[in-house]
Amino acid sequence: MSAATHPDDVDLSPLAAIHARIARAAALAGRRADDVTLVAIAKTKPVEAIQPLIDEGQRVFGENRVQEAQAKWPPLVEAHPDIRLHLVGQLQSNKAEDAVQMFDAIHSLDRPSLLVALARAMDKTGRRVPLFVQVNIGEEAQKGGCPIGDVSALLTQARGADLPVAGLMCVPPAGIEPAPFFALLGKIAADNGLAQLSMGMSEDFDTAVMLGATHVRVGSALFGARAG
Ligand SMILES: *Cc1c(COP(=O)(O)O)cnc(C)c1O
Repeated sequence: MSAATHPDDVDLSPLAAIHARIARAAALAGRRADDVTLVAIAKTKPVEAIQPLIDEGQRVFGENRVQEAQAKWPPLVEAHPDIRLHLVGQLQSNKAEDAVQMFDAIHSLDRPSLLVALARAMDKTGRRVPLFVQVNIGEEAQKGGCPIGDVSALLTQARGADLPVAGLMCVPPAGIEPAPFFALLGKIAADNGLAQLSMGMSEDFDTAVMLGATHVRVGSALFGARAG
């Protein structure tokens, strides 16, 4: 039976069903479900859609735009100080300081100029925000992310700047089997001594967990489809 569908899940809320799927995939791989963080991707979703998930106990959320996060989250974080926000979208260097102030993890470090901006922002704010290097794992021209061949050099530069790099992140090419790309990201992380893997979205997070994901980024399976 696939990990993705299970008769026991029919009465569960979307959040509980996703936790059940993560637990099942982790168990299949001999991993602990606790080692997988569900990042609920709330981009484009209003506070009224987010609040029920907070009420159900979800605390780790993701956004892909700094300004949208600044508009939505401060009251929610004030009410629930244990909320943790992850940035999963492309980041412009001129927004690095805002991002370091707002977020508890940044999944989109992909180039030397952004690395310099993030180092400066962390020095200035005194905050040390764990970073994931986003890898262009399918070598797609139109997609963001560091080319595979440049990852080692970027990591060397990050270590030189004393930046807290936690792991690697990827978004595999659309429409084809993601497992080889997840496995490749895991290999690149292991080769570089990195423990954490941000990979897996609504369509493929079970597979990602089986292949070692420590952070799955799930939006539409939790919140319903996004408009546009
Ligand atoms: C939107 C987004 C997600 C969530 O995608 P879903 O398919 O809705 O689960 C995950 N990661 C990134 C980088 C995203 O931009």
